[in-house]
Amino acid sequence: DGLRELLLSRIADVPDHPKPGVVFKDITPLLADPAAFGALTDAFVSLCERYEADKVVGLEARGFILAAPVAVRAGIGFVPVRKAGKLPGATLRQAYDLEYGTAEIEIHADAVAPGDRVLVIDDVLATGGTAEASLELVRRAGAEVAGVAVLMELGFLAGRQRLEPGLKGAPLEAL
Ligand code: 5GP
Repeated sequence: DGLRELLLSRIADVPDHPKPGVVFKDITPLLADPAAFGALTDAFVSLCERYEADKVVGLEARGFILAAPVAVRAGIGFVPVRKAGKLPGATLRQAYDLEYGTAEIEIHADAVAPGDRVLVIDDVLATGGTAEASLELVRRAGAEVAGVAVLMELGFLAGRQRLEPGLKGAPLEAL
């Protein structure tokens, strides 16, 4: 089908953002086009059904935008994974390595429970560090990883290879 072409046509390359030498994939044209955003949402909902997810985790910040309508359309709960220090309740925290330094993300400790099957959604899989840490959080909170679904995978950064051990056999889908 033409989904891939439609999505690609609504993603802009922005050179030298956020720093010189980086070509940033800008999804704001996609978000502004209801046909494209709707088709993307439908595709994520199909993955929820295929992998029998009963919770959707969105990764801050663009993952929130993509995952929230999926949760509503699929009729399942939305759970945010946020940068450390933002969530108000009791949290689990996970550190991961960046190119320079480390970052930390959190989930509410009671947001998912044993028996839950969680689909993790984000816009871009780059080095895979964020997604890898989110899988740790989901499992530490006691739930099962149904899969990871992203709009786009930057193949040259080898995120799929980094994420592979952490998937423990769960699928990684890049639309
Ligand atoms: P990773 O941890 O895989 O290296 O980076 C993934 C995270 O950084 C995602 O949450 C994603 O939103 C963001 N990211 C990295 N590169 C890009 C990019 O080119 N475009 C967009 N939209 N997000 C990016």
